[in-house]
Amino acid sequence: MTDVLVIGAGPYGLAAAHAARRLGLSVEVLGRPMSFWREHMPAGMFLRSGPDWHLDVAAELTFEAFDPVSPDPIPIARYLEYADWFAAKAGIAVRDEVVVTVAPAGDAASRGFVATLASGAVISARAVIAAPGIAHFGVIPEWGAGVGAHTVDLVGFDELAGARVVIVGGRQSAYEWAALIGEAGAERVDVVHRHPEPRFDRVSWAFVEPHIERTLAVPGWWRRLPAAGREAIGQQFWDVGRLTLEYWLAPRLARLPVHRHAGVEVVAPPAGGELELSDGTRLHADRIVFACGYRADIARVPYLPPVASTGGFPDLDASFGTSLPGLYIPGFAATRDFGPFFGFVRGAVPAAALIARDLEVRLAT
Ligand SMILES: Cc1cc2nc3c(=O)[nH]c(=O)nc-3n(C[C@H](O)[C@H](O)[C@H](O)COP(=O)(O)OP(=O)(O)OC[C@H]3O[C@@H](n4cnc5c(N)ncnc54)[C@H](O)[C@@H]3O)c2cc1C
Repeated sequence: MTDVLVIGAGPYGLAAAHAARRLGLSVEVLGRPMSFWREHMPAGMFLRSGPDWHLDVAAELTFEAFDPVSPDPIPIARYLEYADWFAAKAGIAVRDEVVVTVAPAGDAASRGFVATLASGAVISARAVIAAPGIAHFGVIPEWGAGVGAHTVDLVGFDELAGARVVIVGGRQSAYEWAALIGEAGAERVDVVHRHPEPRFDRVSWAFVEPHIERTLAVPGWWRRLPAAGREAIGQQFWDVGRLTLEYWLAPRLARLPVHRHAGVEVVAPPAGGELELSDGTRLHADRIVFACGYRADIARVPYLPPVASTGGFPDLDASFGTSLPGLYIPGFAATRDFGPFFGFVRGAVPAAALIARDLEVRLAT
């Protein structure tokens, strides 16, 4: 029996696998390495995060160690090279296998889990770390079902050359997709969102660091913060991360036929190829793109067994443990209990560290 089965080879899975291996535990990692980044992000994308956000709990196999002359911004291809380098240096062998089900092996907490793979193979493990990311959680407005594509499913833009494209949403993805679609030759791109016009500026995520330190030092820190404290940090996140978009987008957008519609919303489903906005504007849309973000709904992760959840988020203990002892879920699905930083790569190392601390106790025999 494997000590730890890690399902997912994105940043959270890789970081957690490394942390568990450092404890001397046997670890199996299943999934396609960085597949979300390779298959659900455009090849021409740049990262918002910088070279200081890495995957190593020991802070040795960092991006800066991989590339001392780190580019700014980091092209996605370079980050993927870093992830591959990290996995190789850390000795993490990822098996490209799809997990179909995970089930507790018995009623006793210590019996572990049985995972069934699409290949028919079965793996028994004493603990499971499931790192499903956000792929299952894309949000499309009710009126949008069947009339457009979420950004998660639209990462190649050649077919949009000559098209009139409406993007619903106003954060980094909306404007970066607008730039990429414009650069692919779209005739016109309209970006429509409810919130005010975003700023384009250099963004510093340094404010996150003390929160990460507290998360590591105080068990359940985020959950125990008074609601007002959580709201204040959430607001800071919104201002810095959501309403301020990357400075390098502005000159690209200025050269392109990209039109902004801030403070408005789409009032009705498209009719006759047209969308009506709340300010009366009518936009012709050959294609509609939903850059409407992600909302956790843990029941949509197909391989997971039922776990206690509230509002789509799994109920987690201070170590990312679910209601099934020995099953951990770090990453975006943990943001309700751990804070918004866990929707970003910055959360991968602290999550790995907290899970490893718990594994050390749980699997000590
Ligand atoms: C457009 C966009 C840009 C972003 N830019 C940034 C950024 O600049 N900086 C930043 O910090 N964050 C960024 N993020 C957020 C970032 O993508 C997530 O924080 C991160 O990918 C989450 O990592 P993860 O390991 O939890 O999941 P993922 O990276 O999604 O990995 C999921 C893994 O699970 C595997 N898997 C899925 N189903 C199965 C199955 N049934 N069996 C086995 N394996 C399976 C997949 O193959 C994959 O390996 C961005 C997100 C988006 C959408």
